Amino acid sequence: MALVVGAPSALAQGSESVEGQTYVIGTDTTFAPFEFRQNGELTGIDMDLLRAIAEDQGFEVEIRSLGFNAALAALSSNQVDGVIAGMSITDERKEIYDFSEPYFESGVQMAVAANNDEITSYEDLKGKTVVAKTGAEGETYAKSIAEEYGFQVKSLDQSATMYESVKAGSAVAVFDDYPVLAYGIAQGNGLKTVTDKVPGGSYGFAVNKGENTALLAAFNDGLAELKASGEYQQILDSYLADPTAAQPSNFFDLLVKSMPALMTGLWHTLLVTAISFAIAMALGLIFGFMKISGNIVLRGIATTFVNIFRGTPLLLWAFMFYFGLPQLTGWEISVWTAGVLTLSLNAGAYVAEIVRGGIQSVDPGQLEASRSLGLGYGKSMQKVVIPQAFKMMTPSLINQLIISLKDSSLLLAIGFTELLYQGQQIYAANFRVTETLLIVGIIYFIAIMALTKLANYADRRFNK
Ligand code: GLN
Repeated sequence: MALVVGAPSALAQGSESVEGQTYVIGTDTTFAPFEFRQNGELTGIDMDLLRAIAEDQGFEVEIRSLGFNAALAALSSNQVDGVIAGMSITDERKEIYDFSEPYFESGVQMAVAANNDEITSYEDLKGKTVVAKTGAEGETYAKSIAEEYGFQVKSLDQSATMYESVKAGSAVAVFDDYPVLAYGIAQGNGLKTVTDKVPGGSYGFAVNKGENTALLAAFNDGLAELKASGEYQQILDSYLADPTAAQPSNFFDLLVKSMPALMTGLWHTLLVTAISFAIAMALGLIFGFMKISGNIVLRGIATTFVNIFRGTPLLLWAFMFYFGLPQLTGWEISVWTAGVLTLSLNAGAYVAEIVRGGIQSVDPGQLEASRSLGLGYGKSMQKVVIPQAFKMMTPSLINQLIISLKDSSLLLAIGFTELLYQGQQIYAANFRVTETLLIVGIIYFIAIMALTKLANYADRRFNK
């Protein structure tokens, strides 16, 4: 069973029909007008095309907004069946992916801050830093001319953060696809273009090479239908004719429009933290006791566990569980499973140390006294040592809970729909990065203050 799940596409080969099938499709987070969020909904040219093609061909799609590089990683690990993300058809990529017919002409261009009069050509980039998107054509192009013009290329994951770093001055220019730059500039993202575009690289829908052939054929058929019926042009026009339409106009507007998405994000943040922390407590208790056990094997196991998860970054495990594990095992790992595994194992390692420290901090005389009064080891632990240890552990546990809540924001890298992820989706669409981050920050702050109060109250009640 698990093996079949790992390679769903193998089944779809040959004459297999797409009718009634549901395909999981990965996309970029920030690539307006191709994919972005509006009032919490994923929208854009790619999204509309894909949905219209799916409807025309009778299949369903489940779209995962992952980020460009992450979407490609998800495709390689079979976490998604296909990718539509303003993805350029290149010879290199054709070695590992099969592409649909091209559906949009594109290419790379450079942009600088609107108020920058110093950079007017590649020559002016000497000794400076530019940004480009990890794994994207903009990055490939910038790197290909970096040496010639003597500049540095810094890679970021999202168009919105790239633009922001140009405006903030940490990079002087950005290399991105010109339709995307033009759309952002029309919306007032604070950039301008000064050099010619570099044509080339039409967009195509991608699947893994030799896999999901039925899906690819259906995409091509659907695309041809949409072109013939005029719907293709309609979709394009609806985004490109007036790019300034429907933007929230002020801070308050932005706040109101973003609230539903942010509340979903907050809920997911709280839920994943609660589930993970409950598991972390269980793991921490088990491994904490193992660490102080007299048995060298148990001690060894617990120490290894703590060392591994305390000694490696959380983000590494998020990638490992979400992208690595499915490839190694053929299992289907959802983003929730990967998120909970990551957070709970990480926090579990810290809780184990808190438990160990708490128990060891109780004066050994307490245990001796209790035992000399005739209580057994287990009872003495349960009645005398653990209540005292728990009291001492509580502040550290509350600390760890808050750290876990904040760390859950790292899961945005695998497309987990928590609070900061929702914030990114919002500023990806409207380029109001600072305001959106401010709102997100305030929500985190309020949530954490409330949680701290609640935890302290519980502490006072139970640890009297
Ligand atoms: N068209 C570019 C590429 O395929 C960028 C795509 C993107 O950033 N979503 O590399």
